[in-house]
Amino acid sequence: MAQIIDGKAFAANLRQDIAKEVDALKEKGITPGLAVVLVGEDPASQVYVRSKGKQTVEVGMSSFSHKLPESTTQEELLNLINKLNNDDSVNGILVQLPLPAQIDSDTVLNSIAPEKDADGFHPMNVGLFTTGGIGSVPCTPLGCLMMLKDHLGDMSGKRALVLGRSNIVGKPMGTLLLNENCTVTMAHSRTADLEEECRRADILVAAVGRPEMVKGSWIKPGATVIDVGINRVDKEDGGYRLVGDVEFASASEVAGAITPVPGGVGPMTIACLLLNTLISTYRQNNLPVPEWIPVAN
Ligand code: NDP
Repeated sequence: MAQIIDGKAFAANLRQDIAKEVDALKEKGITPGLAVVLVGEDPASQVYVRSKGKQTVEVGMSSFSHKLPESTTQEELLNLINKLNNDDSVNGILVQLPLPAQIDSDTVLNSIAPEKDADGFHPMNVGLFTTGGIGSVPCTPLGCLMMLKDHLGDMSGKRALVLGRSNIVGKPMGTLLLNENCTVTMAHSRTADLEEECRRADILVAAVGRPEMVKGSWIKPGATVIDVGINRVDKEDGGYRLVGDVEFASASEVAGAITPVPGGVGPMTIACLLLNTLISTYRQNNLPVPEWIPVAN
């Protein structure tokens, strides 16, 4: 049976480490601040935003929550972001996606000051990160990388397969694994013989959004499996359960280690949002980023 990589526990430890650094910064008179902007009433977004705000406060940071109505215009949102860009008490800014149809997401994300880009989605940060410069890294792949490094240590020479090529998960995950000297394959909906590609991988990161698509028989015995997928599957009683992109029951018979859903990558994503805000705070105050923090130095 595979070892379970407990993302919930890992994230709790990470939040404790972040809280210690926040305390140390406060002694210097600096309180890191994260602003989260929500436009509209999307129920899932409301849950995420609440959870982000709560965890921000728990690590000792200032949380600034901006809830705007569904009818907000792009100009109104850009004005708010401009204010947050110029507010010294705000070190990180996150605009919760999706945005209502009248607002162009790219225009909004590009208007966030790159040094306050807590999500790591600004093209300047994407460029810096892919060319080996210092910029913020998207939270979900960063969380996956931290768990992989903790579990595997040196990943040099390992074959890694990233299933999914989105800008927020797949592509940055591939870059991070390449930076760790893995031999990286990026798979997607046009990949020929996906199962065979998966079977060659020592590290498999699944980010497709297809419930339980990856079966145990696709996995190389002993491989490390990171399941990013969060999919709702209806239950007979009218409720739903959450499953990943990997069929956990069969995969955990074959893999060496695997993240569960829920309780794997999900908790790490928010913890890494706080980590990105912390990193931004050091940089904005010209302070060195502590050595223990990955991909920041
Ligand atoms: P996207 O829909 O943006 O991308 C999905 C990717 O999967 C695409 O590259 C697509 O290929 C590929 N794909 C889709 N179907 C297949 C298939 N049948 N075979 C092979 N490849 C396929 O999704 P995201 O990257 O945003 O999210 C992926 C999953 O991760 C979702 O379940 C999402 O909920 C979850 N997620 C979880 C987070 C967390 O915190 N745990 C954070 C973010 C996302 P192509 O490009 O060819 O279309």
